[in-house]
Amino acid sequence: MPKAKYPPIFDGHNDTILEILRGRNFFEKSDKGHIDLPRAQKGGLGGGFFAVFVPSPRPMAGWPGLNSNPDGSYHIPLPDPLEHRYARDFATKALRKLFALETDSKGAVKIVRTADELAQCLDDGTFAMILHFEGVEAVDTNLDSLHVFYQAGLRSVGITWSRPNAFGYGVPFAFPLGPDTGPGLTDAGKALVKECNQLGIMIDLSHLNEKGFWDVAELSNAPLVATHSNAHALAATPRNLTDKQLDAVKESGGIVGINYHIGFLRKDGRSDQETSYAEIVRHAAYIADRIGIDHVGLGSDFDGATMPQDLKDAAGLPKLMDALKEHGFDKKALKKIAHGNWVRVLKKTWR
Ligand code: ZN
Repeated sequence: MPKAKYPPIFDGHNDTILEILRGRNFFEKSDKGHIDLPRAQKGGLGGGFFAVFVPSPRPMAGWPGLNSNPDGSYHIPLPDPLEHRYARDFATKALRKLFALETDSKGAVKIVRTADELAQCLDDGTFAMILHFEGVEAVDTNLDSLHVFYQAGLRSVGITWSRPNAFGYGVPFAFPLGPDTGPGLTDAGKALVKECNQLGIMIDLSHLNEKGFWDVAELSNAPLVATHSNAHALAATPRNLTDKQLDAVKESGGIVGINYHIGFLRKDGRSDQETSYAEIVRHAAYIADRIGIDHVGLGSDFDGATMPQDLKDAAGLPKLMDALKEHGFDKKALKKIAHGNWVRVLKKTWR
């Protein structure tokens, strides 16, 4: 096999499980969406966090699409909270599907549970999946099922997607707006942080509001992680991190996965199809300048967001690596961005 031009990319966030549940064959190349195994292999994508996101049972007002007002502003109302049992049943179905996919892959795909397994996969070309919950509605507030899901392979949770739940409050999809949009974690949310630390489950801060962010910063003994968020200074949506939040990520030894969603990249906040992947480099460079290259990773939001049209999908990733290289990131820095920083943070976080 020819030597790859770049180190394998490990990615902080995708919503591909939803597409698999809707019928995408992960082993066949498709023109739809962003990730399947052939496109991942073509683009040098070695794996990523696979999010279990539970869609609302009823259509969500204002979704999909981030339609801006003429001045570029928008504010989409948050969907109603999910019922726990509904979320638990959906998540269980999603996990069954993913376990079946792993079996069907005959060794080509592995759900990884330790940092050593992840490093091994990146080394030998096995596609690595980390089980992630985007919003923990599937977990009961006694946290009993957190232990069950952990045993099944769950290694990462975002306390909230944007809608509120029993554990905390997320940020709305809006522009321009800061992330300080509501109360901090509930008592159940605070207990969840402690339990995740104890078990060795990574906590993802993307989507959580600012008070919740600072609660986690205070309570957690693990590095702070935002798997798919950008710099608020460059794109003023609450899904992005303020400079103060970025500084806290650095201080904890954590990481920010750069999100490729066009609306979170652009200074004007518009979901404009003409957006280029050069905008991704702009955010990576800003965050590297502010808090250091050790804290920059990638967090595409593939299959959950609108990609820059010149990147298109996972097969386009070498173009992004070219652009990062052209910006001036050297070989060592590119390896850290591609996967090195993720592996370091997970080694520290998982037990
Ligand atoms: Zn998300």
